[in-house]
Amino acid sequence: MSASNGRDMIKIWGDPATQLQLIIRRMGAIAVLFSLTAAVLNQGPQWLVITGLASLYILYNMLLCWRQAKPQLGDLVINLVLCAGLTAVGAVYSNILYHLLLVRMVLMVGRDQAMRLTLVIAFVYVTAQLFATHAMAADFWLDVAFNVISFALLSGTAVYMCNVVETQCENQGQIAELMRENAHHYELAHTDQLTGLLNHRAYLEKTADISQYILLIVDIDHFKKLNDAYGHLFGDQVLEMVGRMLKMSIRSKDMAFRYGGEEFALVLPSTSLDLGLKIAERLRFQVANCDFVHKGGRVKITISIGVARKSPNVACQDAFSKADSALYRAKRQGRNQCVVF
Ligand code: GH3
Ligand code: MG
Ligand code: MG
Repeated sequence: MSASNGRDMIKIWGDPATQLQLIIRRMGAIAVLFSLTAAVLNQGPQWLVITGLASLYILYNMLLCWRQAKPQLGDLVINLVLCAGLTAVGAVYSNILYHLLLVRMVLMVGRDQAMRLTLVIAFVYVTAQLFATHAMAADFWLDVAFNVISFALLSGTAVYMCNVVETQCENQGQIAELMRENAHHYELAHTDQLTGLLNHRAYLEKTADISQYILLIVDIDHFKKLNDAYGHLFGDQVLEMVGRMLKMSIRSKDMAFRYGGEEFALVLPSTSLDLGLKIAERLRFQVANCDFVHKGGRVKITISIGVARKSPNVACQDAFSKADSALYRAKRQGRNQCVVF
């Protein structure tokens, strides 16, 4: 992921940026309360105007917070006019509002525009201050210099915060991408490409976690002959079809695996041996009655199934051996049948 993507995440109002913007907006509304309180307590000549402007500032910014509105240029202009108004009518502590506004806007526009924004806000502040206080007044230039330096420092800090948020977004994006890739690789490593069923590796991993289930081992009869007679490509199509039939005939909590070659395994948790045998019979019947088509001609396929129970005190391999020996008996007895161990 490129650096510009991280920047985009900030611009599209990514989560850390949202939190930061909301916090700074609320801080601005709280800060203006100081100007308001000072104006009301001092009852200076402009205290009514200050009260009006401060109330407007609070209401406007609280409305934006409530709406979770994205910061925009219009938002900057309105807030800057309100700040300038407060400074021009002599509201004390109003300079903090410029600082908060500057940080918020630099976070929005990013480092490229930070310098321009700092100059605009500093210019508005100095002009409003000139309007309120005479340039010859004591401490005027000291106050202006202090605030302009603060603007530059805060702007630098905001650029740094931008970089931190950007890196964080990039890292989060990379982590999400890695997790997606991991999940994809896990799926690839556990899926049989031909049938789309779970593979042998998945069988070993997944059955290790289940203490009790009915195991069906399904084997296509005389598959070698089928390959020899109709070709491997048709053999593959048969494997695919049988795999699909197995998948469609099980419940969501059951699992179907291609164990290897033309052998499949079905793992049926919370199932009795009787029900397991019924499911096996239904499957055998379904395959035996399905018409597989090769070059317009019908081909009959049969399967044999060995059924065994895996109890909590039985090892997975032992359960598999039982089902396998049941399958072996089904083959010996003539194939196209299900045998319970
Ligand atoms: P049985 O009824 O005793 O099970 O006989 P069989 O011929 O089905 O069993 P055998 O183990 O003798 O042969 C299995 C054949 O399955 C041999 C192998 O070429 C074929 N086979 C294994 N994997 C694939 C595959 O992915 N595609 C195809 N077309 N054939 C496969
Ligand atoms: Mg076979
Ligand atoms: Mg076999």
